[in-house]
Amino acid sequence: MTRVFNFSPGPANLPEPVLRQAAEEMLDWHGTGMSVMEMSHRGKEFIAIHAEAEADLRELLAIPPNYKVLFMQGGAIGENAIVPMNLIGRTGRADYVVTGDWSKKSAKEAKTYGQVNVVASGEEGKFTAIPAFNEWKLDPGAAYVHICSNETIGGVQYHWTPATGDVPLVADMSSDILSRAIDVSKYGLIYGGAQKNMGPSGVTVVIVREDLLGHALPITPTAFNYKTQAEADSMYNTPPTYAIYIAGLVYKHVKALGGMKAMEAHNKAKAALLYDYLAASSFYTNPVALPDRSLMNVPFTLKDAALDEPFLKGAQARGMIQLKGHRSVGGMRASIYNAMSMEGVQALVAYMKEFEAQHG
Ligand SMILES: *Cc1c(COP(=O)(O)O)cnc(C)c1O
Repeated sequence: MTRVFNFSPGPANLPEPVLRQAAEEMLDWHGTGMSVMEMSHRGKEFIAIHAEAEADLRELLAIPPNYKVLFMQGGAIGENAIVPMNLIGRTGRADYVVTGDWSKKSAKEAKTYGQVNVVASGEEGKFTAIPAFNEWKLDPGAAYVHICSNETIGGVQYHWTPATGDVPLVADMSSDILSRAIDVSKYGLIYGGAQKNMGPSGVTVVIVREDLLGHALPITPTAFNYKTQAEADSMYNTPPTYAIYIAGLVYKHVKALGGMKAMEAHNKAKAALLYDYLAASSFYTNPVALPDRSLMNVPFTLKDAALDEPFLKGAQARGMIQLKGHRSVGGMRASIYNAMSMEGVQALVAYMKEFEAQHG
């Protein structure tokens, strides 16, 4: 068996020990004679799996007790509607900061549910930098301020937390949750699909401050009402049980590696290796402003776009896959989430050097 170095933006690579454990437990979880997939979500076995996943996530992110943790369905794109349906009703309007394709999509979707004000946008600069905080035209009467902490396509990431005062900060953290330490108390709500850093697709994690519950618009589907789900321990409907189980294994794995501090150091070291090489090279270019470069998704272009195909072919031949950039940006993108090893990034940089020497 050969495992590739998978630079996919998502669904992304998972830690090998997690996949091995899942394989071992596939037919018989802990002597129950059942796969986790076959368990009732209301049985004591799955309730224990679910509770442990939540407890481990709470410990990893130091989630304060006045926050609920929900395991939902619908993904981050679903949350683009679910968030406003649940939160915008408090004042009828919300502020959105647009720093790339994902936050732009969030702002667009929210318009169906209330008044959306784009209070800052990096679009004029082609989404290569986060607009300076002092230029944000924040509305003190907004129900919330929405940001995307890491733009998966553009490779733009917040390395600071906006201080929005009494207006709750809402963050789409799909592609950087669990990659670094965060101060949850600075947010009103955090959401993210699991398939970048936390597990397989199918489960969406929502961390929400309790006082924000109970303002859902009447049109909100019951299954997507945070209050209903919070009161039902995310089991108003059948939750994505197997995805929650795998996320739970990932949380245990990350805890064993040393938690958020260790992941942050690991991710910074990998990103530095790649960015340092990009800075030294005149063959490859990364367009993102230095202070806003993502530790998770590193887009880069080659000197000549005609070399893209040969580059990708050579990478594939060396066991490195999914490096093609998003069609809106072009070039390449290396997604180097938690589960990407230092060896993977070293192999990529070695190959980039070799390719530059041949074609530069
Ligand atoms: C991947 C991603 C999404 C989309 O997630 P879905 O699971 O397809 O809904 C949204 N936002 C960000 C930042 C992402 O990285």
